[in-house]
Amino acid sequence: MTEAGSPPESATPVHIDTSKASIARVYDAFLGGKDNYEVDRQVFEGVKQAAPEAADLAWDNREFLIRTIRFLASQTDISQFLDCGSGLPTAENTHQVAQRLNPEARVVYVDNDPVVLAHGRALLEENEKTHFSPADIFQPRTILEDPVVNAHIDFSQPLALLQVGTLHHYVGERDPGDIMREYIEALPSGSFVVLSHFYDPRDDDYYTALANRMDERFTHSPMGSGKFRTEQQIRSMFSGLELVDPGLVRCCDWWPDGPRYKQEPEVSNCIVGAVGRKP
Ligand code: SAM
Repeated sequence: MTEAGSPPESATPVHIDTSKASIARVYDAFLGGKDNYEVDRQVFEGVKQAAPEAADLAWDNREFLIRTIRFLASQTDISQFLDCGSGLPTAENTHQVAQRLNPEARVVYVDNDPVVLAHGRALLEENEKTHFSPADIFQPRTILEDPVVNAHIDFSQPLALLQVGTLHHYVGERDPGDIMREYIEALPSGSFVVLSHFYDPRDDDYYTALANRMDERFTHSPMGSGKFRTEQQIRSMFSGLELVDPGLVRCCDWWPDGPRYKQEPEVSNCIVGAVGRKP
């Protein structure tokens, strides 16, 4: 999909409202992908006016996802991954990272975006150990009872639940901490939760102002969501979990791949993540 208004090449017929930006396509625009429309790129441009290095927000998130999957697939016995909010396929999707280290790893992706459904699904369901289910990830009960999820994820064995770059798009009535509590209660002991979230540092006026400007741009865009929450709010999403070292940190600081020579962009202060283990 390279031109505004044109459908994805491998699409099954599906209604896509091109007047509305979609989270998955906007994220794709941030990552420099081609699966986005003009309306999605407008959101990206709007956020860039608030923070010129906004693309790094998405890259910090994506690279955090890749490093955490590598950690889980190589350093733990986890071989089942429930990836909530898969996004459009891009380089290094969860199943590719996990199955490179453990060919037996099973991955179920869940997303409710029609474009992910129409053309991402085929690319994500690359092999018999990788599956996709269209559902609302902010309704834990629905996901926990989903037939595709249950066909491929064994809830009597430890698993990894991923909510990477998703909950800042939740703007409903429930406390996001409660949503996560419901998921965590259903996980067997020894399971892991990987979660990243837009962050408002609060104790730092400069970065709080930056977070507020981006929040404003996301919220009042045709996409309508992108909430920068406080440390306390984000910590509440890990209730009952032991955080793996180094705890809740900027995504770029979660076991970076090597020494840092370059100054990280300012937006890196506005996205954090952690991996929690259920005792
Ligand atoms: N997890 C991927 C990553 O970190 O690279 C993708 C993150 S992307 C920012 C968020 C994804 O969550 C999008 O693909 C969007 O469609 C999906 N999403 C948002 N709200 C959702 C909902 N209520 N149910 C299912 N998926 C949702």
